[in-house]
Amino acid sequence: MDLKRTIVDLMPAPLVRIFASPYIAGKGVSAGVSKADELHSKLGLSSTIDLLGEEVFRREDVEATVQVYFRMIEALKGRSFASISLKPTQLGINESVAYCQDNLRRIAAAADAQGLRITLDMEDRNFTDRTLQMFKAVRDEFDNFGTVLQSRLFRTGDDIKALHTKPCRVRICIGIYKEPAEAALQDKPAMKQKLFDYVQTLLDHGHYPEIATHDEPLIHRCIEFLDKRGVAKDAYEFQMLLGVPRTQIQKDIIARGQIVRLYVPFAEEWKYAVHYLKRRLAANPAMAIMVVKNMFG
Ligand SMILES: Cc1cc2nc3c(=O)[nH]c(=O)nc-3n(C[C@H](O)[C@H](O)[C@H](O)COP(=O)(O)OP(=O)(O)OC[C@H]3O[C@@H](n4cnc5c(N)ncnc54)[C@H](O)[C@@H]3O)c2cc1C
Repeated sequence: MDLKRTIVDLMPAPLVRIFASPYIAGKGVSAGVSKADELHSKLGLSSTIDLLGEEVFRREDVEATVQVYFRMIEALKGRSFASISLKPTQLGINESVAYCQDNLRRIAAAADAQGLRITLDMEDRNFTDRTLQMFKAVRDEFDNFGTVLQSRLFRTGDDIKALHTKPCRVRICIGIYKEPAEAALQDKPAMKQKLFDYVQTLLDHGHYPEIATHDEPLIHRCIEFLDKRGVAKDAYEFQMLLGVPRTQIQKDIIARGQIVRLYVPFAEEWKYAVHYLKRRLAANPAMAIMVVKNMFG
């Protein structure tokens, strides 16, 4: 078992909260909305707000999640700098594609009425086919609906080609889920190369790439390529996670007149936040050292 992961798993929840709190906005819809306001007014950053939670199986829990998204949409009224991210496993995929798709449709319609964008996050590869199937169906109806593709998966080049005839917003990232060698690249530099390649493929197919990475050399490489190709600055954007320290590069991109959007998670209950924070801490234990340094000035 991964040692980093084991150490983080053994940490008591209050300690995880102290060490990793920069990664989440806080508790409740209002915390997500306030964080989006603060990021925009102080730093010119855009946000995509996400409700942290576990896989949901019972219809009443799915409906409770839908209602949180409705409240979020209402609370984000008039904020063109904010969008919403959501996950199939919180919205009924475990029951059926038809049920989940209907929930996504309801949320997309409510968001559309407020001029807000929605992004359907991508979970592990067991969900890829169903997620893309639902994405395509809802995208048929709503221009505000985007999704995510993971550059580590071998299938992603084909998925881009088959995505949609309409232009789509597509967050392209390496993918956070470990996948087996028969389905995915195992080597990070190769995943990053693919991410770069897929930015081009997405543009070639008329889509809007949302380049989600904290890898600064990769970001610079993308910018250089996009400038050389003469791509309009509003034809793509960069995305990062709240809490990952990338202040200077974010400022530089915004100064070019481009969007940098942060993924801003909030939780309705702290136990969900702790689960998310443990995952982030396991990915980067150096975060703990940084937070201690900050605490002591
Ligand atoms: C906006 C956004 C949305 C995402 N949505 C999805 C999704 O829907 N599905 C999915 O599978 N994945 C998603 N991801 C996760 C993504 O796939 C990667 O796992 C993650 O971004 C790390 O990859 P990287 O390209 O930044 O490269 P890495 O090589 O992992 O990171 C580069 C550098 O960034 C820093 N860094 C990276 N992560 C952290 C961290 N957590 N804390 C502190 N420093 C860090 C480190 O200095 C690291 O060396 C999303 C990522 C972002 C930014």
